[in-house]
Amino acid sequence: MLPFVRNKKYIKYYLLVVSTFLLFSIISLSDIRLDGIKNLAGVFFVDSITKEELEKDYALAEKGNDKIKILIAPGHDEGRGGTEFRGIKERDLNIEMAEILTRLLRKEGEFEVSLSRNKNEYHKGIQTYIEENYDEIKDFRKEYKDTMDSLVRSGLVDTRNGVEHNNAPNATVIRLYGINKWANENDIDIVIHIHFNDHSGRRYNQSGKYSGITIYIPEKQFSNAKASLALAKSVFKRLSTYSATSNMPLERKGIVEDQELIATGAYNTLDPAVLLIEYGYIYEAQFINPKTRTLAIEDLALQTYFGVLDFFGKKELQKNNIYNTATLPYLWNDNLKKGVRGNKDVFALQTALAFQFFYPPTQKSKNDCPVNGNFGPCTARAVIDFQKKYNIEPASGFVGPITRFKLNTLFSTTPEASDYGL
Ligand SMILES: [Zn+2]
Repeated sequence: MLPFVRNKKYIKYYLLVVSTFLLFSIISLSDIRLDGIKNLAGVFFVDSITKEELEKDYALAEKGNDKIKILIAPGHDEGRGGTEFRGIKERDLNIEMAEILTRLLRKEGEFEVSLSRNKNEYHKGIQTYIEENYDEIKDFRKEYKDTMDSLVRSGLVDTRNGVEHNNAPNATVIRLYGINKWANENDIDIVIHIHFNDHSGRRYNQSGKYSGITIYIPEKQFSNAKASLALAKSVFKRLSTYSATSNMPLERKGIVEDQELIATGAYNTLDPAVLLIEYGYIYEAQFINPKTRTLAIEDLALQTYFGVLDFFGKKELQKNNIYNTATLPYLWNDNLKKGVRGNKDVFALQTALAFQFFYPPTQKSKNDCPVNGNFGPCTARAVIDFQKKYNIEPASGFVGPITRFKLNTLFSTTPEASDYGL
């Protein structure tokens, strides 16, 4: 690892302090002040991390040098915060996802992975850091905020009214800035925040109208924007293999730039590349039933892991997983028909059909026809197309012994004809 590359962030911080000082001491000389502000903007937004630096560091890590440091941060706090739907709490789903993703990433010798909170406790180092540096974290936020405000006033930074986010309570705000400051000071390379989305306009205990995945990243003027965008592209590509992109108007691009989310470095407070992933809307059917929820979360964690490996150009592991999903291979033991809901076998059936491009059926989107464990018209249509392709008669959309045998021949590692009474 090249130390001067690592020190860039401290140079940025040092110059920020000096420039701010100069800026306010020459406040009466307006021409000089404008130059000062321009310099400040240049310094403030200097790249804190780039794709090329990360690739270089990864190559060094492969040779046994310092590892790439990744922080996984499941959204919200112990016992509070986050959205809920019919007793399912977002913060619990976030933890489940974070623990699986951490386990996967820790298999890689090149990565050193920290988890900010598991289901029992907070990360001890981060927790102690926040407790001991509460005032410093407040000052850190204020300095960056003041600088950003002065840049905005001088017209050198564009602000946008993007997606609205709920204002977090104060302790949570400090905790999030604390995580940013800790990440900067501990040379974290990548931060991944894990969330599930919600549609604020929905009625209590009823599903909302939106579905699908979004990745939030820092807005393009920010120091960590370029590396974050490159990483987001790799991860998003994987996540959209089997899952829908959010159809909420402001999220339709899938990857959304944001200036205001603290987690992605509001006021330019974060140096590492960062993704805030909204893994779908909490009321989507696949997350409601515990059986399909586990399959859905395992697969989304795997896709995220593969996306990170893709970013670093690592291919070998994926070769052993030809289906590119955690759900397959799969063995179907029971017949399936239209009307079955919240069912693992249906979830796996939809995944298999999606792998062969029968699902979603033609002219339907992944939002119309998600992989969710509910056997409705979409699944029936896709099964009929599958049956036609393999000359299974009648092509009725009913998954009986013959269709199951074909599915198991194609998608299970150990198909046995006798298992199906054939
Ligand atoms: Zn959340």
